[in-house]
Amino acid sequence: MTDRPIHVTEPFLPPLEDFVPYLEAIWERKWLTNNGAFHQEFERALADYLGVEHLSLFTNGTIALVTALQALDITGEVITTPYSFVATAHSLVWNNLTPVFVDIDAETMNLDPDRIEAAIGPEATAILPVHCYGVPSEVGRIGEIASAQGLKVIYDAAHAFGVGFRGESLLRHGDLSVLSFHATKVFNTFEGGAIVCPDAETKQHIDYLKNFGFADEVTVVEAGINGKMNEVQAAMGLLQLRHIDEAIERRSAVHRRYHDALGGMEGLVLPSEPAETRYNHAYFPIRVTESFSVSRDGLYAHLKDRGIFGRRYFYPLISTMPMYRGLPSAAAHNLPVATRVASEVICLPMYPTLTADVQDRVIDAIREAR
Ligand SMILES: *Cc1c(COP(=O)(O)O)cnc(C)c1O
Repeated sequence: MTDRPIHVTEPFLPPLEDFVPYLEAIWERKWLTNNGAFHQEFERALADYLGVEHLSLFTNGTIALVTALQALDITGEVITTPYSFVATAHSLVWNNLTPVFVDIDAETMNLDPDRIEAAIGPEATAILPVHCYGVPSEVGRIGEIASAQGLKVIYDAAHAFGVGFRGESLLRHGDLSVLSFHATKVFNTFEGGAIVCPDAETKQHIDYLKNFGFADEVTVVEAGINGKMNEVQAAMGLLQLRHIDEAIERRSAVHRRYHDALGGMEGLVLPSEPAETRYNHAYFPIRVTESFSVSRDGLYAHLKDRGIFGRRYFYPLISTMPMYRGLPSAAAHNLPVATRVASEVICLPMYPTLTADVQDRVIDAIREAR
């Protein structure tokens, strides 16, 4: 008998029978999208849960990122990280903006604040950091640099659902923060996303932008796009909110169990819990260093042979992809830390329904590779 494959994540799905009443209500109302009842309810409930005043729901995180850059009229160059999912840099290209890649910090795997200032040229108008794996960026330092240099800050917070930092939501930092509710994320609405913004006026502007710029039936005030979240997505969001605290708690238990089993293993660097943070345990990235008995790709292949599909997030670096590698900032010598980390990392299976038995298969396979 072959064991079932183990993937890096599994979407969290509440009991199906709990979703049926939401679908019945949508069928009853025949209101499928365009700020329906569930959309309105979810937007309020989500802002409440996250501890932010204003947010605007989107159909996915990428359209939300593209729209956030539009909303703040960002032009020219944007400082960002090469160590992320491709959508971070692609959202800049879709706005005719040029990414300027800055290296990461080896501890947090986020933008290294010590390297940001040197990368700011006359064309730079914004910083687009990522809270990679849900670990808070250096929001204090980044905020100081941005205000001293007159730059906007948009956080790609796709990994940072529910993360608290120093007693408040991490999403309160920067001019805007962008969330993703993709199926693979900590919190999912099948596909979905949101922009967190500081005031009602900005939210109104973003709400226009995501609905073609319509202010009323006959008035179009902006060259908007279609970024709206539909009622089925919003209903899923409402249902997921009922389970999210429990899901994060279970992720935390998986994190502890990996640490108990793999901690102290020669050559493996395990992720530490970020300080002063209510962490969401979005990922469990381990680093396979030179002193481990096999290479990172060796361990990756060894796990794959046993039906365990770790993912090399984030490899390859965005800066090595064909549409970016010609940029001066994309050179490997400009990004030594990101280049090394990308060659060492594997994200292990991490999801709330990961059972102890299945996790033991992962742990045993890693021990066997030694
Ligand atoms: C998932 C992700 C996105 C894109 O979100 P979608 O909802 O899939 O469009 C953007 N940035 C990062 C860092 C992500 O992980």
